[in-house]
Formats: sequence, C-alpha cells, structure tokens
Amino acid sequence: MIRKLQQLEKAARALEPAAGKRKKTRDKVIAYGEDFLNRIETLKAYDYTEEKGIRLLDSPVSEEPLTIDQVLDLLKCNVDSHGLNPASGGYLGFIPGGGIYYSALGDYLADVTNRLAALFFGSPGAVRMENMMIDWLAGILGFPETAAGNLTSGGSIANLIAVVTARDAKGIEPDNIRKSVIYLSQQTHHSVQKAIRIAGLKECILRYVPLDSAYRIDAGELESAIRSDKENGLNPFLVVASAGTTDVGAVDPLERIGDIARANGLWFHVDAAYGGFFIMTAEGNIKLGGIEKADSVCIDPHKGLFLPYGLGAVIVKDMNSLRNSHYYLAAYLQDAQGENEEISPSDLSPELTKHFRGLRFWLPLKLLGTKPFIAALEEKLLLAKYFYREIKKLGFETTCEPELSVVTYRWIPKTGKADDFNKRLAEEVMKDGRVFISSTILDGKVTLRLAILSFRTHLKTIRLTLEILREKVGMLER
Ligand SMILES: *Cc1c(COP(=O)(O)O)cnc(C)c1O
Repeated sequence: MIRKLQQLEKAARALEPAAGKRKKTRDKVIAYGEDFLNRIETLKAYDYTEEKGIRLLDSPVSEEPLTIDQVLDLLKCNVDSHGLNPASGGYLGFIPGGGIYYSALGDYLADVTNRLAALFFGSPGAVRMENMMIDWLAGILGFPETAAGNLTSGGSIANLIAVVTARDAKGIEPDNIRKSVIYLSQQTHHSVQKAIRIAGLKECILRYVPLDSAYRIDAGELESAIRSDKENGLNPFLVVASAGTTDVGAVDPLERIGDIARANGLWFHVDAAYGGFFIMTAEGNIKLGGIEKADSVCIDPHKGLFLPYGLGAVIVKDMNSLRNSHYYLAAYLQDAQGENEEISPSDLSPELTKHFRGLRFWLPLKLLGTKPFIAALEEKLLLAKYFYREIKKLGFETTCEPELSVVTYRWIPKTGKADDFNKRLAEEVMKDGRVFISSTILDGKVTLRLAILSFRTHLKTIRLTLEILREKVGMLER
C-alpha cells in the first residue's frame, strides 16, 4: 500500500508545479495578456469568421499534456479571434463589457489563495470583504444599513434571488399562485421572465403595464391596474421596474412606482443591472431618484462598473426576507455555525462553495478610488448625448432622447423598406468589425441601438462609429 501511495504521489505531482515551472508558465500567460492589451485599440470589436473557432475541437482533452505555447495558440486562434470582443471600446452593441485589469489580478489572487468565501467561519476576512462591498452598494443606492445582499455571477441570478425572496416574503403558495399578480413592462429584461418561471411562478398573472412615449412604465396605468385587480379579488404582490432598460436605457418612474407599491403592499424590485451605477453621477442620481424605495435591487458591476464578466449583485432592504428564502442548516456544516459576527453569503444565495468574487470587486476600487469610475460614467452619459446630436445631423431618425447611455436611431431610405435597410446596415457595420452595434424592434420597427458603457469607449470611438455609419449608408443607398 505504501509503495502504491508513493507511486501515485509521484504521478500526481505535476498538479503542483515548482517555482521555476510556475514562472515559465506565468510569464507566457502574462505576455499573452499584455499582447492583447497592447493591441486592444486595433483589435476588431467583432470578428466575423466562417469557422468560428471550430478547430478547437481537434484538440480534445486527453491523457497527454500540451505545452503552454500550444495551449495559448489554441486560445488565440480559436477563442480570441472570433465573435464579439467585449474588451474593445468599439463594442457598442447589447450592453457593453469592458474588463478592468485590476480585477484580473484580484481573480488571480483569489484563485491562488482559494479562500472559502461561502462561510464566515471558513474565511471571516473574505466574508467581511464581500459584505463590505454589499454595504457599499447599499450605500450608493440609498438603502439603510440593515440591508443585505449577495455578490452573484451576474444580473440574471441577482434577479432570480430577488424574485424568490419576493415570492416568499409575500406568501405566494400553490393555493394562491393563480390569483397572484406580477406587474412589469414589455421593456423588462427577459431574465426577469426567466426568474419568474424558474421560481415556480409561471402560473401567476403577468401584467404588462403600458408605457409612455419614452418607453417607461406609466405609473397611472400601474395604479389603476392594481386597483382593478384588487377589486376583482386578485392578489397583486410584485412590481418590477427598470433603472435603465436594455433596449433604450429608459428609467421607469421609480419614485411613483415605489409609492404605489408601498400603498398597496407590493414588493418593489428594481432591475438596475445596466443603469444602476449611473447613480454615482450627479445627473444619474436625479434620474434614478426613488430607487431607495425598492425592496430589492439588481445591479451589475460587470456592466456599469466595467469589471470583467462574472459579477452581479442583489441588494435586499430586509435581510431577514433574503435569509428566510436562502438559508439552510446542514448537519455536516455544524462546526461552521458557532458565533458568526457577520452573515455568510451561503445563507443569502443558492450557492455554497463559490468563487471569492469580492476580491475582483474590492481590488480595483481600492487601487483606484471611486473618482475615475464616476468620471467614466459621466463621460458615457455625455458621449450618448453627443452621438444623439450628431446622428440626427447625419439625417438619421431618432426615437427619443437618451435617458442614460443608449441611443436608438434608424435610417429612412429613399426607396425600399426601412426595416430591411436598417438590418442590412447593422450587418454591414458588423462585417466591417471596427465597431459593433446591435438592433432591436421598437414599436414594430427595426431600430439600431448604440449602447455606450465600456470604459474604453471615448470620443474618438464615437466619431469613428459616426463615420462608419455615414460610409455604410452611402454605400447601401447607391
Ligand atoms: C444585462 C441585464 C440583465 C442580465 O444580467 P446578466 O449579468 O447578463 O445576467 C438583467 N437586466 C438588465 C436590465 C440587463 O441589462
């Protein structure tokens, strides 16, 4: 047995590379990252290719190891040169990404030290750090100190946690589910519908509240819908508003919806996945006024705080509601109970063991302070205004003034169908690849969107976009 153990130990030793080997591998990885960052200005925002990295499949996982050079080559040829490049400032479609470098270093440290951020007992420091970041988020949203929350992998899970919490806090059970009503809008992000289904609430009545001309929930319509539902013996329990819709960046009237929700005993959830961090700017602070009335908020640091993908957050005003829906006492974790000074993430989310994501959030904020983030957010708001002004000058039709950093516009061609033209225009811009824009359907019409949210998007990028649009329109009109 001892001999066998010794053999196995020797064979498994490759799992712990020695310092020299670590350095060699690490240097190559860092060089790859540096090469990517040094070329970021010239890399395409969208790589339109036929093969889409299919050759990656020619190299399946096997018993035999590859060298770091071979592996990085696979990555470069099959992953980092096809499709969207969310690290590029030219990525202006959907909701842009980014990827603050210091977060990558935070991830590196979190992975090397591999702290158990799930439980206070396991890593009091990691849990304190995550809770501190939650408190910081609660603070910028104007929530009281009693609020709690969870750092999630993204906004979809944050919305799910909020919907589950609302369901339990409002006592939605099989016997009343069919009479229970959720209010939302056609502009609500689809992750909310997904959350409703996953939370077992698909039998609830979904009321899509009519919108005003700027695609915001009409608060008067919401109020009368709730009134008539109550008169009809239904059970209104949840209203979901958006602080920045994905399509047009519209902010629902949070102040009024908050008052209506409170007066009628509804849970008020605000999806601020995209727009939440604009509250740190003077202009955004006014536009998002009333968000502090929410019972729960979803906010995505991997969008509005420019962090690399993998960080969302849910903040819930009443910690007990959040905890009641998510805690569990497992027998095998009894040693981990004890005297906990701080609540553990595992009591506030479906996860147990998880990535120590607080570190990728904390590190850039500590190294940079909040000022450059606020400046970048202000810059995005102003760039959207600039693009809106200039795109009109080029002769495009615009839908409404940008409330945050999304602009919607379309070209009306001299002849032919405008919908087809705008689809072709989006395709041409995509094939060009220097910038990436996306399209949507507004009022039944194909409409182009420009979403500005990357910390790498600057005036130069927007000028290039205008130039490309002018050029492609000219080409298609010919
Ligand atoms: C992006 C987005 C989501 C989903 O967040 P993920 O982080 O992509 O899961 C939810 N709501 C809104 C308004 C969004 O923009």
